Amino acid sequence: MHIHFDKVYYEPDALKYELGKKLQDKYKDLSWVEIESHNRIPELTAANNRDFPKLKRLLIIGIRKTHKYVENHKVSDWLVPYTSSGCRAMCLYCYLVCNYNKCSYLRLFVNREQMLDRLLKKSFTAKLQTFEIGSNSDLVLENIITGNLNYTIERFAREGRGHLTFPTKFDMVKPLLNLDHKGKTIFRMSVNPQDIIRKIELGTSQLYPRIQALNDVAEAGYPVGLLIAPVILIPGWKKLYAELIELLADELSEKVKQQGFIEIILMTYSFVHNAINTEAFPNAVKLLDKDAMTGRGRGKYSYRNDVRAEAEAFLREKLSQHLGTMPIWYIS
Ligand code: SF4
Repeated sequence: MHIHFDKVYYEPDALKYELGKKLQDKYKDLSWVEIESHNRIPELTAANNRDFPKLKRLLIIGIRKTHKYVENHKVSDWLVPYTSSGCRAMCLYCYLVCNYNKCSYLRLFVNREQMLDRLLKKSFTAKLQTFEIGSNSDLVLENIITGNLNYTIERFAREGRGHLTFPTKFDMVKPLLNLDHKGKTIFRMSVNPQDIIRKIELGTSQLYPRIQALNDVAEAGYPVGLLIAPVILIPGWKKLYAELIELLADELSEKVKQQGFIEIILMTYSFVHNAINTEAFPNAVKLLDKDAMTGRGRGKYSYRNDVRAEAEAFLREKLSQHLGTMPIWYIS
């Protein structure tokens, strides 16, 4: 996959780091705009919602200064702010929009050594822990620009304790296949019906390549998981998700089926998403469904309890019929 950017905004100190220098060379043909902080770029904050796709074509380079780990109790013990936040793709429900609003463009942080040093130290502080490093961006996509995953997986395998994990919607896993990972990185592939990927997960990898990528990483010895997320209850959802699960049963390798686990997350949407999508993608599928959703405070919407219960029962039944060997770790 070729990733194109229009322009780079950068903190000058970032260019003192090895990765900063590498990026400077890689994108030397683009125009570079100096900024004081990756968190404060007034001309971008002032942009209109309809400029969202244009903003996504910008690359921001800086130094991560906040390193606060957040406790988590799903697949990992900690959510770790890592080498990027934001993303070049444009999934219409992307959770990052809640944090960054229309400024959810890709920001790369060049101080990866410092971040991993910290993580390695933390990995020795308690029982075996799992660190989620991909909760702020898509690291497989980031990796083809920075190579950070390769660096992280191998160094953690040598020097760390416990596990790393990250989810992805991308298939560019070739660089990861021959790494010496020692089984310490759990790779989780996120899937949705192809029709939803095409209309809603704009700029991500298609379904078949994602399935193939998951088979490949499992074959390369990584522990793996499958995320059916976010489940979006658009008209015809039962047919779409039933077909998806049947397809997964046909296409996933025996290794994934025997060793992998499943997570299911129903979509959360928000007022901010709705405002941006209505202006930036006026012809896109409408995700705010006032009949099936309810406000959850702070402008967020999620499916009503009875609607969720129906979806959950449906998915559990289909999964037990077709992918019964894969445990469902949670549905949220
Ligand atoms: S791939 Fe993930 S991080 Fe990127 S836009 Fe989609 S949901 Fe957001």
